[in-house]
Amino acid sequence: MTKFRRFDDYEDLEEYRKQKNKGTGRKRSSVDPNGGNDDRRGQRPMSVINRELEKPPRCPVCGKPMVLRGKPHGIEQTHTYVCEEHGYRATAKVREGKLRLTSTPADDDLMKKRYIIHRYLDLAVDNGILGRKGLYYHLTLKVHGVFTLMHIGEMSVEMFLPYLTELRTLLTANGVSYEELDEKLREEGFADIMDAADAAAVAKA
Ligand SMILES: [Zn+2]
Repeated sequence: MTKFRRFDDYEDLEEYRKQKNKGTGRKRSSVDPNGGNDDRRGQRPMSVINRELEKPPRCPVCGKPMVLRGKPHGIEQTHTYVCEEHGYRATAKVREGKLRLTSTPADDDLMKKRYIIHRYLDLAVDNGILGRKGLYYHLTLKVHGVFTLMHIGEMSVEMFLPYLTELRTLLTANGVSYEELDEKLREEGFADIMDAADAAAVAKA
């Protein structure tokens, strides 16, 4: 069984990549994991989280600009955008003086699925398997096959099962049971999603 080291391998790797790219004159930015210089751009997933948001995000169903709901609030001036008609929501926050996207448009179902994945990530972090960022890298590498960084706030509904399966594999490989977590999630009202996930996992096996 694969045991992962306690410290965060992936964060070290990112640091290594930064050092390696120093002095090449290539502009690297935290919002573009490919540094904007990758000729494979478009062929690999690219994170949109933390990108500056110049206009409201668009609803994936109707394509209309989503509407700001309520006043921006909290330390990071959280902006919530909605499409009332299709039940989609996205959030942006002010970071380093700029309004940045922190979650892509999601409906109720997708928001629940992102929440479940976050709970799985918490379990892995709490058990010292990897750090949070390391887990993001791990999932991106295992599920998308590339070394880049995707956040759960941009997870699409199609990625829910692959992410869940990979996290279960990782936890099991490290001797951590997720039974208790599944139980809690069911109690919290996610039984339908967990049942469907289990059924899909069985069907695939
Ligand atoms: Zn819409």
